[in-house]
Amino acid sequence: MESRRVAQGVPLEEYQLTRADHRRQEEAVAIMEWVRRQVANAPRWSDEKFRAMQELLGPPSRPSEFVRWRVRLYCGHMHEVRRSRSQERPDGGITDHERCTECGLDPSVILAFEPLFGGG
Ligand SMILES: [Zn+2]
Repeated sequence: MESRRVAQGVPLEEYQLTRADHRRQEEAVAIMEWVRRQVANAPRWSDEKFRAMQELLGPPSRPSEFVRWRVRLYCGHMHEVRRSRSQERPDGGITDHERCTECGLDPSVILAFEPLFGGG
């Protein structure tokens, strides 16, 4: 597993934004706004429904089931993120963005990444 060295846009510091990146960011913002509206308008879940969903999702993953990535976000900040080992890259599907803890941009799409090894 550790031999897989997926990387994109390395070195991260020198990554140049593309038009496609701007479009991805706009889409991520639009989706996030839509989701927030849905959540705001949705009725509160009952405890019963909440438990049923937890059962469906299964037990939380253990730390050993994660890998760490260093990612460059749309806003230009670098972040370290954890993803499931089953994910080939850190920006697949619904995990293609993060909330930037430095500038607060939320969502901020992942533009480039490199795997981090060692140290758990
Ligand atoms: Zn930022």
